[in-house]
Amino acid sequence: MSQQPNILLIYTGGTIGMVEDPATGQLKPFDFNHLHAQIPELNKLNVQLTCISVKQPIDSSNMDPARWTEIANLIAENYKTYDGFVVLHGSDTMAYTASALSFMLQHVNKPVILTGSQLPIGTIRTDGKENILTTIEIAAARENEKPVISEVCIYFEYKLFRGNRTSKISTTQFNAFSSSNYPLLAEAGVTIQYNHQALHKLTNNGLTLFTGFDTSLTIIRIFPGIQAAQLKHMLALPGLKAAIIETFGAGNMTTAEDVLNELRSFIAAGKSIVNITQCHTGAVEQGKYETSSKLNSIGVISGHDMTTEAALTKLMYCLGKNMDQNQVKWAFGESWCGEVTV
Ligand code: ASP
Repeated sequence: MSQQPNILLIYTGGTIGMVEDPATGQLKPFDFNHLHAQIPELNKLNVQLTCISVKQPIDSSNMDPARWTEIANLIAENYKTYDGFVVLHGSDTMAYTASALSFMLQHVNKPVILTGSQLPIGTIRTDGKENILTTIEIAAARENEKPVISEVCIYFEYKLFRGNRTSKISTTQFNAFSSSNYPLLAEAGVTIQYNHQALHKLTNNGLTLFTGFDTSLTIIRIFPGIQAAQLKHMLALPGLKAAIIETFGAGNMTTAEDVLNELRSFIAAGKSIVNITQCHTGAVEQGKYETSSKLNSIGVISGHDMTTEAALTKLMYCLGKNMDQNQVKWAFGESWCGEVTV
């Protein structure tokens, strides 16, 4: 490691780098140079900062696996050269990208921290400046010559979260993220307080890059009154290999036989169904109620306390590795990068 930590900042778009189009009044991604000019403090940090941009910065609502691959490749290609990575990203899909990167960059032993803002960097009350400056400070933090953070995280509004435990919870507040099933990794006040017990421990494993995600899957939110015919249509999509069902409470849904039969036939055809709760806190516990023990008996896989974002991206990984139903079940019973409590 050099005297000054080497940090690579990757700009992918989002509000943080947007400006108002005077003609329409809409926010549009702007040239990355705009960002550097807006935060002269970047030059004062005690780090060697290199800034690059993805080919085409976007509003993160346009995010997809191809763009996750571009970001993961940039990190993997530069992994040896830099001590830490900061990814500037729109907040809308930041939790999905953080989850995806945690699976694409397995055994990452350096900080990869995503941040963004609710207000564009050029506005007076922007939250972007604090978010960027503190994120760089955290990415550069070392103790005993080792990085303090060695995982994929999100930093937003004074809080550092484990990326694959995080969801966006507010469109209006600066405090836009939460990770209700996992403690904060750090909080920034006058000093940055790290929650050492919650941090991923450094390992000797080398980085393993896998970007071959397969998106032949769907998410079905169960609702009171859902009909068998509706499920049948959703599950009949050609090429569909897996589905996530978002259920009530501790993983419950209707016990109506015709509805369950649709899930049963999908699973009998060798495809996987993963159960995630609609609740923000707590976990799926299949078998706790009669309404979930049926799911157990037909072979629905418990997603335990994972976020939908983490379950979706882990499933894309599993399908990309051509895992069969049993292997998917095994995968969802294991924590690979702190995404689930097992
Ligand atoms: N729509 C924006 C995006 O996700 C919102 C933001 O950056 O906060 O790119």
